[in-house]
Amino acid sequence: MENPFSHAPDRREYVYLDNAATTPLDGRVAAAMLPYLQRAGEVPLGNPSSLHRSGAVASEAIELARERVAALVGAAPERIVFTSGGTEADNLALFGLARSAPEGKRHLVVSQVEHAAVRESVRALEREGFAATWIGTDACGLVDPEEVRDALRDDTALCALMWANNEIGTVQDVAAVAAICAERGVPFHTDAVQAAGRERIDVSEVPATTLALSAHKLYGPPGAGALYVREGAHLAPLAFGGGQESGLRSGTENVPALAGFGVAARLASEELEARSEHERALRDALIAGATAVEGVRLNGHPARRLTNNVHLTVPGAESESLVLMLDALGFAVGQGSACSSSGHKASPVLEALGQGPEEAFCALRVTVGKDNTEEEVEAFLKAFRECVERLRELAPAGYGAGYGAGRG
Ligand code: PLP
Repeated sequence: MENPFSHAPDRREYVYLDNAATTPLDGRVAAAMLPYLQRAGEVPLGNPSSLHRSGAVASEAIELARERVAALVGAAPERIVFTSGGTEADNLALFGLARSAPEGKRHLVVSQVEHAAVRESVRALEREGFAATWIGTDACGLVDPEEVRDALRDDTALCALMWANNEIGTVQDVAAVAAICAERGVPFHTDAVQAAGRERIDVSEVPATTLALSAHKLYGPPGAGALYVREGAHLAPLAFGGGQESGLRSGTENVPALAGFGVAARLASEELEARSEHERALRDALIAGATAVEGVRLNGHPARRLTNNVHLTVPGAESESLVLMLDALGFAVGQGSACSSSGHKASPVLEALGQGPEEAFCALRVTVGKDNTEEEVEAFLKAFRECVERLRELAPAGYGAGYGAGRG
């Protein structure tokens, strides 16, 4: 008899709904990377810094990728610094801007709902002596730009607000905050890792000083990212060495990954609208189906929301169990609170929303992607209903109280 709790689902049947964690590599991207992983051309791939033809092949691949990544955000190619991913791009922006700020500027303004790559960078800067003002949100995870305006000071070295949140999917009014910072002459960083490929991004309209991107969130390979750096911005490097990437990121470039990032960015630009429309329809079907289950609530903003994000509170269904049960049935989804597995504490994002450990304990994140289908969403909803019902039956008295199975 088939064991529904086996952890070896039939691969062909497996439905991936965790696209905020990472996206599957697009076959077209993989094909474009192959020549840089194998000897496919006339000469083997060299070090991009080398003068010979092998070096030139590598260097040309990087410059083409730079043009494509720049085009995704409306930037000039020379404004793009390649990194190993979103985390490094965020770190480079935060440390780079803070450490090169004029003397006496030791204050940072940052939202409470940033990804750990920004949040932990700011905490490290606090340990170096910087003082931070942490901006809260409303119950939907939205930052009020006027609160940011009020927090800016004459000694503010930088302000950071993410474009869109990785947990709850709320899309911030980054244009307003960037404009406020530009008016005050305060460098502004935005983490656009989740937004890129979903939201239209144009740095000629949004005056961000720096903007972080990651390839593996837009169907490219892991291990590649980029930081857009506005002309005239002062940034101290994090890594010292051969002076690659205009001296801002020393180290021999990861040519295959960057070539893949370039193609992924080109495809994201070309297919942005079609992908977003497709994702939005699947997202809305998921929200309607999931919140029809008794007690299930949607977190994040109802309208200012990433096209692929569904973040739920599922009372009476502990999220770790729900994720594992769904996995056994062939569905990959995310736990809704980054910290819920370690000590059952709400993540800083859910805390900013005013939620406590109880809600974090039963939070679930379902994120669709361009390759998902309506049939997959329907199958997921059926499995979701079954799993929630079963977990509520099993929940200790009181925990699942009032939800199905008549437990008291
Ligand atoms: N910023 C956000 C909003 C993210 O969602 C992530 C990845 O989860 C990162 C930064 C880090 O990106 P990477 O995994 O490329 O280091």
